[in-house]
Amino acid sequence: MSPVLTTVADFKSTHWLEGPRLLAACGRKIMEVQGMFRNAELSGFVQEAHKLAHAHDHPDVALVPLLSAWAVPSGPLTGDCLQTIIDTILKHLRAVDPVDGLYLSLHGAMGVRGIEDPEGEILRQIRAVVGPDLPIVVTYDLHASVSRQVVQQVQAIVAYATNPHRDHARTGAAAARLLLGLCQKTLKPTMAWRSLPMLLGGGTTIDILPPMLGIFQRLRHWERQRKILSGSVLMCHPWNAHPETGWNILIVTQNDQALAEKLADEMAERCWQVRHEMPPSFHTPEAAIRLAKEARLARKLGVVVLADASDVVSAGAPGENTALIEALLAHGRELVSYVPLRDPQVVAALWDQPLGSQHHVKIGAKLDKARGKQLDILVKIHERRQSHGVGRTLVLVHEQVHIVVVEGPALALAPSFFTNAGLNPWRADVIVVKNFFPFRMFFAAIARLTLYVKTAGVTDFDAAHVLDFAGDIHPRDEVVEWRTTDRRRRLG
Ligand SMILES: [Zn+2]
Repeated sequence: MSPVLTTVADFKSTHWLEGPRLLAACGRKIMEVQGMFRNAELSGFVQEAHKLAHAHDHPDVALVPLLSAWAVPSGPLTGDCLQTIIDTILKHLRAVDPVDGLYLSLHGAMGVRGIEDPEGEILRQIRAVVGPDLPIVVTYDLHASVSRQVVQQVQAIVAYATNPHRDHARTGAAAARLLLGLCQKTLKPTMAWRSLPMLLGGGTTIDILPPMLGIFQRLRHWERQRKILSGSVLMCHPWNAHPETGWNILIVTQNDQALAEKLADEMAERCWQVRHEMPPSFHTPEAAIRLAKEARLARKLGVVVLADASDVVSAGAPGENTALIEALLAHGRELVSYVPLRDPQVVAALWDQPLGSQHHVKIGAKLDKARGKQLDILVKIHERRQSHGVGRTLVLVHEQVHIVVVEGPALALAPSFFTNAGLNPWRADVIVVKNFFPFRMFFAAIARLTLYVKTAGVTDFDAAHVLDFAGDIHPRDEVVEWRTTDRRRRLG
């Protein structure tokens, strides 16, 4: 949905580790992904593999690190960017003796310009080098798209079981158990897949709240049985221009295809039943500011957090929506507010100007000119900083409205985004985040009221309705049954 293309430079400036440096980042209590994760999938995988090797007296288990690359979600990757990533993986694979198995932590909701199924393309090129028989286990975010090309080329897929996600390491560890079992021939995973023509459903889609709570509890109950190795429900990334997007179910059993098929069927039916439970509706900017003003006690004891649900950077939005800034200038100038904004041009133009100087600037709508609205305002330069991932940062102030302008992606989901800019979150009345779920964990200590705001942008739930899907999809279209689409997706 976003027109801002993602290049290799976006990965290299965020996170790019190869070979031994990657393995070193997967140790205990070490930052695996700088500025983001201490213990993600690769750490979970590496630590579990070491543990298993030790427990079963296999000191000969050797790990061969290939590549770990992250960029902040944005618009599609360029074809060159994807090919550089694949070439780097293949370069490391070719440089070592043949491996016994391969683990790929793919996330699974990547979009690449001109390539319909990027994860399938990664698998295709890797299979061309390692051959058709090498055991491959893949882990996914639960917002991944699942394709026939991927399912056919791997032995098992395991996805996160939490939303907001907090089981990255557990997911990597599950992959280690499956892959080592495959390599040592103690496991023979059999996987069943079901795919639903369904973009939205499941209410808030949070794993600890109904209706998804019961679904995830059922999966965990199954996994306690010896024959069931893994159960995943993937609720898709609803703004990914994947023609076969939708919810997916993946069940992995120990050498029992019939059992996997039966459970996948049952789980697909269960997910289809919650399709009418829509996400909550969100406030307008004006209503949210009125509620923030009324919440005197909340502001006194902490802050009111406004989640800009239309401009969620962690879901791929540009992070340059000015609707909340405009509303705060019109209705909430007296509130001490911190608002993130990505505007590399304004940062470049004002970077050398002295602190305290005043300037007329046009902010916003530089990256996605078709959607955003530019604001013309008088600001004072309040702070100048530089930090990992977001690059050069300026805090521009108009009365009590503090605009944190960054040149890189405005991944504003934790108080550290604001402290890195020299601001004290406790002194704010209102803090704007560009995120759906994870911010709630990071802001738990300080947020006294959280309001979701719809400001019109690429991460609106109905924004994906303009995309070109293969066939009807709920809730955009009326879809009475899921099995026809499921069969087409799985069997062609
Ligand atoms: Zn996700």
